[in-house]
Amino acid sequence: MSIPSRTNLFGMSLAKMEMLMAELGEKPFRAKQLFQWVYQKEICDFARMSSFNKPLRDKLQAKCEILLPEVVKEQRDPDDGTRKFLVKLHDGNLIEMVLIPVHGRLALCMSSQVGCTIGCKFCATGLLGFKRNLTTGEMLGQLVLARRLAGETGVANIVLMGMGEPLLNLQNVIHMIETASSELGISISARKFTISTVGLVKQLRELTKYKLKSGLALSLHAPIQQLRERLVPSAKANPLDELIPACRDYIAQAGDRVTLEYIMIAGITDTMECAKALADLTRKLPCKVNLITYNPIIDDQGMPLAPIKVVKHGRLAALRGEAPKKSTKLKPFTPHDFKAPTMEAIDRFRDYLYPRCPAVTFRKAKGLKIAAACGQLVAKGLEEIQVKRKSD
Ligand code: SF4
Repeated sequence: MSIPSRTNLFGMSLAKMEMLMAELGEKPFRAKQLFQWVYQKEICDFARMSSFNKPLRDKLQAKCEILLPEVVKEQRDPDDGTRKFLVKLHDGNLIEMVLIPVHGRLALCMSSQVGCTIGCKFCATGLLGFKRNLTTGEMLGQLVLARRLAGETGVANIVLMGMGEPLLNLQNVIHMIETASSELGISISARKFTISTVGLVKQLRELTKYKLKSGLALSLHAPIQQLRERLVPSAKANPLDELIPACRDYIAQAGDRVTLEYIMIAGITDTMECAKALADLTRKLPCKVNLITYNPIIDDQGMPLAPIKVVKHGRLAALRGEAPKKSTKLKPFTPHDFKAPTMEAIDRFRDYLYPRCPAVTFRKAKGLKIAAACGQLVAKGLEEIQVKRKSD
């Protein structure tokens, strides 16, 4: 006889807890108490929920459980103190999250998916393929674990910039932020969250309807449509002339400005043509520009950081630097085409932008020694991800 699985309360909204309490024949105020036990007091043992009588504790024990993901490995960058954590989910899948020191506080870089379906050319996560979306509880779990690991320093900000594209897991991301910002729970303002997206117009317009006050970061990476399409596969279906108005509408309701994340790749996106196009683009919406350098996603032997076993048609050949089978007008980029820009190129680019854009920052990569920088998260141990083979 199979044992029926118990419901994991971690990740459950207050409304769902009210339904649960109704099913158990309890008054609605019990749901608020349960919500506080789970998220505010972080009590995972029903026996310790002292505001409940024994019959209710027994009913909860029989039907429910409170499970968080588990940190199975920690690495620390000796240069800048960045800490990367390998996190195991209940089905055995692995993700990574990163705690980054920023001005004496810590920022949490959280994952939203196992792998990623977008496949940006400069990103190791994109090489993994996609396995599944994270649940609300798995994202909240990263936040709770990070707060424990941060200790007294605390977590000042949360950026959904780890593995995955948050807008492709929209409902769970929204529930996660709403649950985390509830005063009965973790009580972190929605403004402390930044949703970082590669730029998906339809999903961004959907997100705008929820009137969340969270920050928005657009992974722009190239200010020219044709170039952007070569770097970001989803760019073709989400052209800049539709994407920029969608960002503007989101930001108008959030009362903030969008951060344009811009990856500088030598000879590709660090050119003066790009600097001029970027300056033009920044006049179209309230924004600040965050320049970041390309972080290597292939090792010294020329193989990708991601432990890929099976990859999409043609991609392994491309990763090895072999010519594509079919000729195309514009040669697709491979990780072998990418190099970090020189300091001179960064200075030249920044100096052009600075008087023309409202705000420009250059973010020095953190966590490079432990492959925790932008685009480098692969959660070693994800070998089981099998991306459908066509014919390599
Ligand atoms: S940059 Fe973001 S959206 Fe692009 S492949 Fe990497 S994780 Fe996915």
